[in-house]
Amino acid sequence: MYIVYGTRKKLKIDKSLGHQVCPNCHHEVERALAREKTSITIFYIPTIGWTSKKFILCPCCGDSQILSGAEYKELKNA
Ligand SMILES: [Zn+2]
Repeated sequence: MYIVYGTRKKLKIDKSLGHQVCPNCHHEVERALAREKTSITIFYIPTIGWTSKKFILCPCCGDSQILSGAEYKELKNA
């Protein structure tokens, strides 16, 4: 018998930040506060999960601006 395991990444949008100009593609887009959750799956069932990345996502170019925990909290509560 062997164990099937892997990792799974899931994107979660927390809040829309409204229209802003993206510093990467210079389009005016609706940027969003997002975080990436990584989980370890065993037999395709997510068992352990944690937030691996916090960032501002541009839906136009897919650019992500990485945020620190404090910056993220500030934007989320703004
Ligand atoms: Zn962009």
